[in-house]
Amino acid sequence: MLTTKPRGTNDFLADTVRKWQYLEEVIRKVCREYGYGEIRTPIFEHTELFQRGVGDTTDIVEKEMYTFTDRGDRSLTLRPEGTASAVRAFIENKLSTQAQPTKLYYIGPMFRYDRPQAGRYRQFHQFGVEVFGSNDPAVDAEVITMLMDLYGRLGLKDLELHINSVGCPKCREEHRKVLQEFLGDKVSGLCKNCQGRFERNPMRILDCKNEACQGLTKGAPTTGQCLCPECDEHFAKVKDYLDLLGIEYKVNDRLVRGLDYYTNTAFEVMARGIGAQSSIGGGGRYNGLIEQVGGGPVPGIGWAMGLERAILTMEQQGIKFPEEPPFDVFIATIGEEAAGPELVLLTKLRKAGLAAEKDYLGRSLKAQMKYAGKFNAKFTLIMGGDELQRGVVVVRDMAAGTQEEVALDRVVDTLVASFINR
Ligand code: AMP
Repeated sequence: MLTTKPRGTNDFLADTVRKWQYLEEVIRKVCREYGYGEIRTPIFEHTELFQRGVGDTTDIVEKEMYTFTDRGDRSLTLRPEGTASAVRAFIENKLSTQAQPTKLYYIGPMFRYDRPQAGRYRQFHQFGVEVFGSNDPAVDAEVITMLMDLYGRLGLKDLELHINSVGCPKCREEHRKVLQEFLGDKVSGLCKNCQGRFERNPMRILDCKNEACQGLTKGAPTTGQCLCPECDEHFAKVKDYLDLLGIEYKVNDRLVRGLDYYTNTAFEVMARGIGAQSSIGGGGRYNGLIEQVGGGPVPGIGWAMGLERAILTMEQQGIKFPEEPPFDVFIATIGEEAAGPELVLLTKLRKAGLAAEKDYLGRSLKAQMKYAGKFNAKFTLIMGGDELQRGVVVVRDMAAGTQEEVALDRVVDTLVASFINR
């Protein structure tokens, strides 16, 4: 136990973290260009926030939350998603008093007691955006465009964007009624989960992956058939805008998504060929959520993408991540007397902005040169008693295979200049 991480969590080592940093760099660039500001909220919140903000009948709240009681007897929960916290922060910090809409993004770990498998973890990371304060279908089109633009910049191919409209509470009530009528005599054939959903949230039966449920819901009334004129128009505009922007999509009238709070536009992006966990991002409009959490009647829309799955998909599609830039300088020494001057030079090089390293295990010169190779440094400096006496160091250009002696007091400037001229 002591040396094993908890199930469903990951250690990301330096090579992998580099990939994450690249992904985050692209993400932050896209956010800047689309006008989103970063928000950082607590990793845990009052449990009630998620019960209200994600929904009591969702898998997340029913089975997947990491909930604990703190020493002050409060029920707290590690955040399973980012939207509820963003909404809470929007209300608590009175962001609605600023010019609207409010456009936020977050990146960070989320926690769900899921069944771990490839692409599904108990601690995973999401990048998500939220727009509060506008019901304009152009915002729906913008957030979808941004998501697809981001995937495009990462080089991802073969993605499928599914969109749907689940309507407003009025449409959903109508849909619930006709759906329950349709499924009324089929309930006993549904899976256990869906039998429970029949009363609580029958719409979710439509996207159940169970074969029996899929068979029994064939021909069931769709959300699209129950849209009121306003919701119908909203959805038509979203599709028009996406057409104008050249974004390809499939209308999937079974897409209802797991969370209770969605209204109108719902969407999900699937990557082909990454196995069962093919959803790499998704979101939707949630016009009732802010009120439900205790704020005003402010519309909202957002999405989240899974970072592990994005990286997994990039790896599976053979996308190259940028290489780590080569290291600048390695210093090798001969003899005890070089130890002090070496440390001083090393620190000067680092302060001058160069990546510099030395040996700390008392290796022989040969072993130091071998160790230097691991760093793939552009220059190796060699300092020995003889050179020190003459006030010089040997500078070896590793790629060119040439070397020269440089005065010790000029070596930092010389190296810095050679990097500037590169
Ligand atoms: P959701 O918040 O459920 O809509 O999920 C949004 C995205 O987060 C999904 O498309 C996945 O890419 C990712 N995701 C959700 N749950 C997990 C998980 N347990 N492990 C890894 N990624 C996940």
